[in-house]
Amino acid sequence: MHSILNLIKNFTEVVFPLLCPLCVKNEQVRGSQSCGFCKNCLNDFTSITSPICKKCGVPFSFETGTNHHCGDCLKNESKNNKNTFTAARSTYIHSGSLARAIRAFKYSGQMNISPALSTIFAVSAKDIFNEFNLTDCIVQPVPLHKRRLRERGFNQSLVLARSASKTLDLALDFSTLLRIKDTPPQVRLGSIEREKNVRGAFDVRDSRRIQGKKILLIDDVYTTGATVRECTKVLKKAGATEVFILTLARAAWTS
Ligand SMILES: [Zn+2]
Ligand SMILES: [Zn+2]
Repeated sequence: MHSILNLIKNFTEVVFPLLCPLCVKNEQVRGSQSCGFCKNCLNDFTSITSPICKKCGVPFSFETGTNHHCGDCLKNESKNNKNTFTAARSTYIHSGSLARAIRAFKYSGQMNISPALSTIFAVSAKDIFNEFNLTDCIVQPVPLHKRRLRERGFNQSLVLARSASKTLDLALDFSTLLRIKDTPPQVRLGSIEREKNVRGAFDVRDSRRIQGKKILLIDDVYTTGATVRECTKVLKKAGATEVFILTLARAAWTS
């Protein structure tokens, strides 16, 4: 029975090939590399490789050497701030076809791109889980303000957080961390304005849920890190022991 269904599936795919949801032109990659995108779009993704900053995950411009702290993280560490994240990771640079895919998903509501993005995100989730042994972590998305949620209809970070929680078999919590201030979008702001814009924007509803727990915080893009830093501050003040950040993509440089 199973093989008959496979035969029908293969036949259907030959007659009606599955098209890449991003370019809607080329056939999706098949086999072990299958993720929903086509070869052309995938080739345009820029992977982040070592050496990177051990803490914020920014890739260094030189190609050899081991992971170490970047200047920004060293500066912040000297301030002895306890309310910072342990590490932030991302598998891809926010550029090219991946940036287009995120834009189409987030702002144009092209939900057909979501399975492909979730599939590549699941691979990143496994990587950060293995690097830091994140058993017993709680997966949380960066929340949207309820007005923005009404307007967009979905929280893109929650879609990704669901994929990570399912892949890693970790609990998902999307109601403890709240966005209490409806701040303007960060997109056109510089790094200092971004910090100011999100200050006081988040709160924790019931701190008992996260006390003594490790959190894996999910967002779509890490640009200057202002949003995830502010979330981390609130989560750690509420009793979380460690916060790890995972984003689908990140800017090549923090400033
Ligand atoms: Zn494509
Ligand atoms: Zn860094």
